[in-house]
Parts: sequence; structure tokens; C-alpha cells
Amino acid sequence: MTAQENEGLDRRSFMIASVATVGAAGLMTATANAQTSSGGDSGSAVAKQGTVYTGDVIDGKRVIASLDIADLEPGKTHSLYFKGVQMPTGQTWYVSVMVAKGAAPGKRLGLMSGVHGDEMSPVHAIQTVMKQLDPAAMSGTVMAVFDISRPALEGMARRWPSSSRGIDLIDINRLFPGNEQAPEAALRHAGLVFNRLLRPNLDYGIDFHTAATGMDMTAFHLARMDLPDVRAMAELYPIEQIFDNKAEPGLLANALIDAGIPAFTPEIGRPRIFDHEMIDLFVEGTMNVIKHHGILPGPMGRTGKDSNIFIADGMFPVITTHGGFVELLVQLNEAVEAGQKVAIQRNTFGEVVAEYRAARSGKVGARRTDATAEPGTPIVFFLFDSASAIGGDVVVE
Ligand SMILES: [Zn+2]
Repeated sequence: MTAQENEGLDRRSFMIASVATVGAAGLMTATANAQTSSGGDSGSAVAKQGTVYTGDVIDGKRVIASLDIADLEPGKTHSLYFKGVQMPTGQTWYVSVMVAKGAAPGKRLGLMSGVHGDEMSPVHAIQTVMKQLDPAAMSGTVMAVFDISRPALEGMARRWPSSSRGIDLIDINRLFPGNEQAPEAALRHAGLVFNRLLRPNLDYGIDFHTAATGMDMTAFHLARMDLPDVRAMAELYPIEQIFDNKAEPGLLANALIDAGIPAFTPEIGRPRIFDHEMIDLFVEGTMNVIKHHGILPGPMGRTGKDSNIFIADGMFPVITTHGGFVELLVQLNEAVEAGQKVAIQRNTFGEVVAEYRAARSGKVGARRTDATAEPGTPIVFFLFDSASAIGGDVVVE
């Protein structure tokens, strides 16, 4: 979610922007036609070229410049490297791709991670799902793409280091569907991945994330619950919270939706680590989605009904007014009443410089883990459901 330093600024502005839009009737009307109006075929010239093997093999894995999973042998799992954009030295950023192609035809589901490079639990969650799949028993395909922003992963960083004007740090989850001819490498890379790997091969997509460095979150989805196909998948996870929000254009999930591919964005807890307890919940939910689409037979595991998911359409942050050391008084997923004190901030002498209270009642969706904060830093995010909450703006004191 949001972070200290510059890392989280884009995400932070999305979250703050969401405060202004959530609960507004316009949110629903703006998103209602997204699935039906897109058609998904604009710019499809590259989509029809089938699988292109470059002839290179890296560590035993064939390199592709584009993929049509119809070309792959059924009943097997295929491990490939997708050729992304080049580096400043002329070497190439390769993206790791696994395709579990069922013996029989069926729905095609994509599992993505590494759009942000400091988010590790998604990689492990997808690896775990892929290990559980037996393509010989499958009707349909599951495609995993593990490391979409390779240079960001190499640096355990949220953003792509672009060298075009000195180093800029670029959040590629604001760039999709990308542009292969753009005057910017990260934007080109997003276009290559989207046009030649994802869009031609998916009926449904799940783009896994975590909180950003400096924050922690509940087991959480960002999902457009006004879209029935998205809602059906999102509710199959035995997690704590869903934030029903369109978020910004440029998110991979939104670009997929605009291309006619229902998609959403799970957030698996804190960044930089494997949170195994939380990973298990998202593996269970993803296996449910795979069964829901008839790709594998078998009984459903636990779902959102079992975990009593809190579905919220509003979010508000508590934002620091001072710099200093922050002591948080609330835990993840804790229910908080309007006016409740949620944090105390002290200077280096230990003197209290600010106290922060919740502007309205809600549940804690995310909280800061870094102990210091500059003025203007969101330190807690609360989720609320506008149908049950009373109005009020963000209050800091
Ligand atoms: Zn992320």
C-alpha cells in the first residue's frame, strides 16, 4: 500500500484520491460498462502472431518473444522465458513464465506477481498453486508470470529504475496496457508483456500484490465488486477484507478489465517477506477460483463466507501533521470507533507532538510498520462501508 520515502508516493496518492471518490454514486456508474464496452480487440496486431521462439535457451528454458498457448502441447507444464525490454547495456530483461496446459480445453486463468519488486509473498503463493496443478487432469490452462518488473525485483524495490533521464523510479502498475513504441523503457516493457504474453492468452486474471515497504495490510483484495465475474472470484478467498474500488487507470487489473478480461488485485500482507500463514489463504482461494472455472474438478475449500469478509466501499487515511516517531494503538483488522485515539507521535526527546484520532468508525485495513514518519504520511488506513457509516472527513489533530 503506501510507504515511507518516495517509494510509495504514487500508491499513496491513489489511496488519498480514493477518499474523495468512494461512496460517490459516480463510482459505480463509471465502472458499470467496463466489461461490456471494451471488446478487447484494439491494437491486436501483435496478438495474432502466435508463439515466437527466439532460438535462445536460458538455463534449459526456451525463450519466447510472444506466446499463444494454443501452440503448446496439452497435458504438460511448460517453463519459458519471455523476452522483455532491453537494458541500457543491451542485455535483456527476461520474465519467467509457467503454463500448466490442461489435457482438455477450457478457461484460461492468469496469475501474475512482481509488478512491484518488493512484494514476495505473491511469488510464493503462485509457485505453490502451480505445484498443486496436474495438467493431465485439467480442462483449461493456468499461466503464471512471476517477475513482471524484473529490475524492480532485482533491487527488492517497488519501482522500475529507468535510466532515460538519470535514474527515475517508475511504478509500472500505473502504465498498463503499456506502449511498445513509447519513449520510455518501462512503458515499452509493460506493452510487450501485455500485448504479447497476457492479453492474447487470458480469460481471467489475478494480479497479486502486498503492502508497500513500510506498511502492513490485512488479507485483502482490491476488487471491482460491481463486475459480476470479478465478484464471483474475489469472494472465493477466505480472507479478511475487500476494498470495492475502481482505483486508477493503469493498474494491470484495470487494463485487463478494459480488454474484456475480468481481473482483480489481491494484497498478501506485508512486503519483502514470505508470510506463510497469509499465503495459505490466497493459495486456497486461488484453487477455489480454478475449480470455479472448471479447470480442475474437486470440492471448494474455505471461502469468504467462512472468513466473513468485510466488503468496504470507502477508505480513509490518518495522515501525520508532524515529523517524529509514531506509536500505533490499533492492530490490523481492528474495529475502531469514531474519535478513538489511534496513534501518538513523539519527537526525539520523547515529548508528544501529536495525537491522532479516527474521523469515523471503520476497520483497520493497513498500518505503518516504519517507526518514523514525516508530516503528510498516512500511518493507518481505515475501511468502511458507506451503507452503514456516517459521513465525515479525515481528522488529524
Ligand atoms: Zn504492489
